Amino acid sequence: MSRTGLSLLPVDYQGDIIRPPSEAFSLILQVTTGCSHNRCTFCGAYGAKPFRIKPWSQIEADLDFAATWCRRHTTLFLADGDALALPHAQMVALLQHIRRTLPWIRRVSSYATCQNILARTDEELNEYKALGLSRLYMGLETGHDPTLRAIAKGVDSGRMIDAGWRVRAAGMFLSVTCLLGIAGAECSLDHARATARVLSRMQPHQIAVLTLMLLANTPLYRQMRAGRFFLPDPAGLFEELRCLLAELEPFRTQFHANHASNYFSLSGRLPKDREAMLATIDQALAGVLPLKPEPCRAL
Ligand code: SF4
Repeated sequence: MSRTGLSLLPVDYQGDIIRPPSEAFSLILQVTTGCSHNRCTFCGAYGAKPFRIKPWSQIEADLDFAATWCRRHTTLFLADGDALALPHAQMVALLQHIRRTLPWIRRVSSYATCQNILARTDEELNEYKALGLSRLYMGLETGHDPTLRAIAKGVDSGRMIDAGWRVRAAGMFLSVTCLLGIAGAECSLDHARATARVLSRMQPHQIAVLTLMLLANTPLYRQMRAGRFFLPDPAGLFEELRCLLAELEPFRTQFHANHASNYFSLSGRLPKDREAMLATIDQALAGVLPLKPEPCRAL
């Protein structure tokens, strides 16, 4: 996730706007604020920002502005945390309106929680795809069920796999996020193996691996302060990443561990780049790869 400071633009942006790194050049249309789940114990993304759907008049005004001033953008990202929380009729109206107002947009994307994906029928997902919503970013975080429970993700790994398959079956590009360190030091490798298993069954088009950074406004931070959660040290995180990558079955996907939170950058296509990426991790484990200084890491 990256935060964008857009407050100077005459578009209605409420609070920090968070978007995936690959949406850096997208037009950002904030249709909801916050996250409808907002309970994950590690997540400080939206904090006290309440979930709500923005008024249609505001969304229309932002699209009218974009139609005049944002004619070079060809991709559009629907913010905030899970635009798929919009009622079906409203989502259809929104996508139709984007098509009418900004006909040059070739891709609409959004974050989506597993719960909101599963709340849609196959026909509804197909309709969104036909109307231009062609990429969803889903946070798996881990395939390790005890950890999914511990972090209050609200779903188990089986439901994550179902949601992933339903997105793919609708013909959308599926990007899935995983979090190094989220199971703590004790379950680190169990988390890596289980996550590799779940990803292998889900087969997303893109895997994005971030590294957990404990934010002071989160329950997990308080658990760490109380001595009930221990983050793996950097070498432990690299072992976790190595295990995750090594245990993935050989399906075709883009594998990115190049987020600002990571200690070093890794990116490639699987399965063809797996050995080269494992060699890079081994260099990190051997202490011969330059690492990002701690103050330079960010969410
Ligand atoms: S679903 Fe995503 S945005 Fe919402 S609380 Fe969990 S991690 Fe944060």
